[in-house]
Amino acid sequence: MPIDADKLAALEARAAALHPSAEERGELLTAVNERAEDYLTRLGTMPAYTTPDPADLALLDEPFGDEPAPLDPVLAAYARGVERPGVNETVGRFFGFIPGSGLYAAALGDYLAAVTNPYAGVTYASPGAVRMERRLLRWVADFIGYPESAAGDLTSGGSIAILSAIVTARQACAVRARDVERTAVYLTAQTHHCVDKALAIAGVGECVQRRIPLDARYRMDVAALEAQLAQDRADGLRPWLVVASAGTTDTGAVDPLPAIADVAERERLWLHVDGAYGAAFALTEDGRRRLAGMERVDSLVLDPHKGLFLPFGTGLVLVRDGEKLRQAYTYTANYMQDTGGFGEAMELSPAAASPELSRHFRALRLWLPLKLAGVDAFRAALEEKLLLARYFHARMTGLPGFEVGPEPDLSIVVFRYVPEEGDADAFNRRLAERIQADGRIYLSTTRLGGHNVLRLAILNVRTHRREVDLAVEVIRETAAALDARADASAPD
Ligand SMILES: *Cc1c(COP(=O)(O)O)cnc(C)c1O
Repeated sequence: MPIDADKLAALEARAAALHPSAEERGELLTAVNERAEDYLTRLGTMPAYTTPDPADLALLDEPFGDEPAPLDPVLAAYARGVERPGVNETVGRFFGFIPGSGLYAAALGDYLAAVTNPYAGVTYASPGAVRMERRLLRWVADFIGYPESAAGDLTSGGSIAILSAIVTARQACAVRARDVERTAVYLTAQTHHCVDKALAIAGVGECVQRRIPLDARYRMDVAALEAQLAQDRADGLRPWLVVASAGTTDTGAVDPLPAIADVAERERLWLHVDGAYGAAFALTEDGRRRLAGMERVDSLVLDPHKGLFLPFGTGLVLVRDGEKLRQAYTYTANYMQDTGGFGEAMELSPAAASPELSRHFRALRLWLPLKLAGVDAFRAALEEKLLLARYFHARMTGLPGFEVGPEPDLSIVVFRYVPEEGDADAFNRRLAERIQADGRIYLSTTRLGGHNVLRLAILNVRTHRREVDLAVEVIRETAAALDARADASAPD
């Protein structure tokens, strides 16, 4: 078949808009940078929550045109449609759920990573990208206290990291599909729901799932764990997995890891620790004390997009015996023969330690901030959050009408207001809604001990003492205003 040279040239010309010239790139970058700077300079006054305006969201429904669009309206649609509506996790006055942050240097890392686009799945393809990831995993393993045998993976988030750990555990414990119903795993009512999801996706959702009771501080009751294990063994079940939390999402409680590790070792169970929220605190001396025992567990998860302040999109899993992780994930294909296999230890391809093959080059967004700011800046920011939580707890404890939960293990404080009269649950719902709608700060609620409670989670990198003082002020004045109304529990 003759080649139609004219047609090829015409197609190349039509696709030219995909390749801006150096001059056009400069203009684009300037405009995007102006957008980013506008955002960053407004951070101090931006609401922590903005009720969505349907007109803003509708800007994003505009169909894609065949012709290139000018940049200004495109960026304006982004600003109105995406920057504004909903919660704003980047502001230091955000205390809801588990706060995100977004480090500027991480954004630059993402930019460079996308421009250079190294293939970060296989060592042969980009040995440098892989070396950088291994360096980061080793850095985390070192501050956790994991041995040289550990291996891990940078994932898209905590849920996927936990899935990876559960699949590794299932494989290492040789849990066969036909035996699943006779096996047992041990959780608590405070275990993050992504563990249930991971068990289901890993094909072991039909195992017996025991919820071990909690103590008064919402930590796993180890005596109850031992009793349940004994009962289950007597009943012919096969226990294989314990999931402990190093910082639960609701209250930040850290399960008694040394005692649980003793039980797991004695009973030959895989012990996984969910440190998606809390494990990064091990970078600090105080945190390492609070998280003692984490170095003994079989696998753990830490979310850099929470505790290391990265923009969303980065989780991390570590497995103490790295060989187990490799065994769970090493598969190969004929077309991969040029890559020389998946390597070993420090050269192990991410694809051989992960469900992914082609993947985002996630390392640079963490490597760059660590290099540019230095580790001590991270350590100080994390220690500050631990202290701020204690400070908030102390301030709330003195306020009339408030019932404050336990002194925080990490950086989450739970509390509620108990009005003189009326339904306390409805009151606290209204209180949270009022605070959220006000927008100066954002906090969220949960259910604990059958009650609605408010929770203040301190983890945003921009949260300092003045933001916490403002939170106390907003909470106090909103509760007082609401309590002064006879019909406080009725809608406005
Ligand atoms: C956030 C969180 C998860 C889930 O992590 P994602 O990154 O949101 O997928 C799991 N466990 C705990 C304790 C968490 O706080």
